[in-house]
Amino acid sequence: MGTRRENDLAEWDRLVNNKWYAAGHMGDNNCMPLPTDKQAAAGIKRIHKKFMGYAFRGKVVKAKRRNQYTWQRYEKGQAVFVFNQNRKTPRNMTGWADMAHCMAHYVHSRKRPNERPHSQAELALETEITNFVLSPAFDKYRLPQ
Ligand SMILES: [Zn+2]
Repeated sequence: MGTRRENDLAEWDRLVNNKWYAAGHMGDNNCMPLPTDKQAAAGIKRIHKKFMGYAFRGKVVKAKRRNQYTWQRYEKGQAVFVFNQNRKTPRNMTGWADMAHCMAHYVHSRKRPNERPHSQAELALETEITNFVLSPAFDKYRLPQ
């Protein structure tokens, strides 16, 4: 989604991607098990509440297609949050690495609709979401139980 200048990519690696790599969620170090559907759904709600500032009231459902983004949609006029822990990006980020990236795009687009994707504000937001998802507070949504 969107484009980034080369000098931004190094910052994205330092603040976001290197943490996912070190934690086993990316590239040739993608060794962590994916979250279960229950963990993914509950974790998406937790991220929404913390970073949007209010609870998502609609259904949270698993994507039907493997390459579908984690994103809010409307189905029959109802807001539905679709999650996909199986989507694989070109850099082999799956599970929470990809879902956290999608949630950063989502929250950014809702809070700053006129700002471009991958702006400095979005990088700051994705850094916060990454730190939160990799913190002990999020273990129950991320680690095998
Ligand atoms: Zn992106």
